[in-house]
Amino acid sequence: MIIRLERIPRPGETILGGRFVTAPGGKGANQAVAAARAGGRVVFVARVGRDMFGDRAVAGFVKDRIDVSHVVRDGTAASGVALIFVAKDGENSIAVASGANANLSPSDVKRASSAIAGADALVMQLETPLATVQAAAGMASKAEVPVLLNPAPAPARPLPRRLLREVSILTPNETEAELLTGIKVSDRASASKAATKLRALGVGAVIITLGRRGAFVAGEAGERMVPGFKVKAVDTTAAGDVFNGALAVALGEGRALADAVRFANAAAAISVTRLGAQPSAPRRQEIDRLLGKG
Ligand code: ADP
Repeated sequence: MIIRLERIPRPGETILGGRFVTAPGGKGANQAVAAARAGGRVVFVARVGRDMFGDRAVAGFVKDRIDVSHVVRDGTAASGVALIFVAKDGENSIAVASGANANLSPSDVKRASSAIAGADALVMQLETPLATVQAAAGMASKAEVPVLLNPAPAPARPLPRRLLREVSILTPNETEAELLTGIKVSDRASASKAATKLRALGVGAVIITLGRRGAFVAGEAGERMVPGFKVKAVDTTAAGDVFNGALAVALGEGRALADAVRFANAAAAISVTRLGAQPSAPRRQEIDRLLGKG
């Protein structure tokens, strides 16, 4: 729920004159929608409340042809929401109530075990409980399903070594890479250092997204920069989510890592030319067109 207004209210202050809009969001949901639009067959494992927001979220997933049989309607918690103030100068202030997301449990994941074991990839982020992420990673790696973890929002504590060893591809942005490694990431050389450190902890491949510059990739085939696409950025909200959703689809289609990253860069570049999170996720045709294959 977003209110655009002159400036962000101070504690105790009331400001009139705002404009209110709602937009579907949440990292997991954004990534699922991005993957579905990029051409993936998506099974979404998630929790929403039995409220209006949950109804709307599920209806949106269905519209994008996402399999919602593992989207649990929580009997007690409300759907996760974020209250966002955006000031005229672009500054924002965000309060998140995780609600049902915080209840996504290892048993929810267990119920989805056949979907996970039969998938081309498992994609996760950290807006759901770490224990649940760990349970899913364990299940996928046992079934030899590649695990793609987007470590966002940046974790407050270091990620468990065991989890990192089960991650096939870790996709931090610059801030998250710094928080995970203690290395300030600002260019190729520092990205390389951070990626080396993460790979030494057992992660298969590391992709550090670098905004408009694209992404740095470090895997078994070596290291390289995969440049981003030049576009006119309007709103970079969810660029990382679109990147991750599209990346999973490209990898699932059997593309090599650098090629998959180019596909993800294209999808994310299109998304930043449009307002909003989920509404901005591009369809396959648009991605192929930017890649010169349309
Ligand atoms: P996050 O949104 O998680 O902070 P980034 O800012 O690194 O992540 O962006 C993720 C990806 O989105 C980048 O790797 C790139 O492919 C694409 N991207 C982001 N900003 C731009 C931009 N201004 N122009 C083109 N592509 C962009």
